[in-house]
Amino acid sequence: MRLCMSIISGAVLLLLVGCGSDTRQDVSLAYTVNAGESLSDVGRKSGLSVSDIIRYNDLDSHVLRAGQRLYLPGISTLPEVVAKPEKQQEEYIYRLVTRAQWGAQPSKANFDPMSLITRITIHHTDDEMSKGQSWGDKEIVRRIQRHHQKNNNWADIGYHFLIGSDGRVYEGRPLTVQGAHARGANNIANIGVSLIGDFDKQLPGAAQMRGLRALLTDLQQRYGIENTRVYGHDDFVTTVCPGERLKAWIDDYRKR
Ligand SMILES: [Zn+2]
Repeated sequence: MRLCMSIISGAVLLLLVGCGSDTRQDVSLAYTVNAGESLSDVGRKSGLSVSDIIRYNDLDSHVLRAGQRLYLPGISTLPEVVAKPEKQQEEYIYRLVTRAQWGAQPSKANFDPMSLITRITIHHTDDEMSKGQSWGDKEIVRRIQRHHQKNNNWADIGYHFLIGSDGRVYEGRPLTVQGAHARGANNIANIGVSLIGDFDKQLPGAAQMRGLRALLTDLQQRYGIENTRVYGHDDFVTTVCPGERLKAWIDDYRKR
């Protein structure tokens, strides 16, 4: 009797396992892309070739966005090591300070619309705005906006983003609007990012650099921008901006 029961439960178990595998064969995985993950990462994890993933998903860019859903046909189980260690993900997270939060004045109407974004230019604000003062980043951003709108007669603060000393990212003019940061036609398709401070003699601190790397990663993934299309202000015009030390970092970043 006992033997009989165990044969029956063994059969039930087999049946369950069998059903399970059968069902799973037809399931294609909808995979959520992690921050910083590339097509070849997903390829390696899933065993699919990069060209197959592109074809199945009808991708027109080789750069993946965090959160993007990929259809991985024939893959019945979650690829191993789908998530990067938390520390690495942290690297790509930044805190955005919205225009409302820093107390921006409304944009004026004299702007050009942004064309398809293809490049990013990095600046520093230098100490002109905060010489000898300890206003804090919010007040510096407000003062830069006032200067750009009143003295330069621009529609808004010239940059799309500013990065504070604590790594927070301040929302500048909207990305739907062309920037005013690299002079004339250099502004076309060009996102302007400015680090608050003077980086001629020293690099930004660790928190500010983390903010910069996280913002670059996000923007580059969103718009499919290669590292070689990340510039310093002085790549376009003769200027000391973004400072010698920060420029050396950018030159190195472009080669990575
Ligand atoms: Zn500049």
